[in-house]
Amino acid sequence: MKKPILFHLQRHADISGVSGTGRVADGVIWSDGTVAIRWLGDRPSTVVWDHIGHAKAVHGHGGSTEIVLADDPAARLARIAEAHQQETGPGGLTSGRCNECGEPSPCPTYTWATTNRDPLATWDPADDDTEETDQ
Ligand SMILES: [Zn+2]
Repeated sequence: MKKPILFHLQRHADISGVSGTGRVADGVIWSDGTVAIRWLGDRPSTVVWDHIGHAKAVHGHGGSTEIVLADDPAARLARIAEAHQQETGPGGLTSGRCNECGEPSPCPTYTWATTNRDPLATWDPADDDTEETDQ
């Protein structure tokens, strides 16, 4: 059973001139993939989307608004990144490969886990679940 994932929307540039910048909304991705966003500010409102991709299409503003995941997924990414460090052998010798998967370091998994997500990029919470079961 998937758990809901909390996030907030961080706006770096206010294209409309209405909402301001910074933390502009709180949201949750429910276990069935639907998304509820609570807009903050003077006239708060709640919007429900069928999928996070729909929210990104409407609110992403070409990358100026970032989806920031709350603690649990972020901590999980940090653990993944920690596991996929460059191998170090006795005497500090290294093969230059990932300790975990053997790919040249930094391996694709490390890069994935340490890269900020583009709000317009294809991303589904199910991808993270797949990654978790690989560990
Ligand atoms: Zn790796």
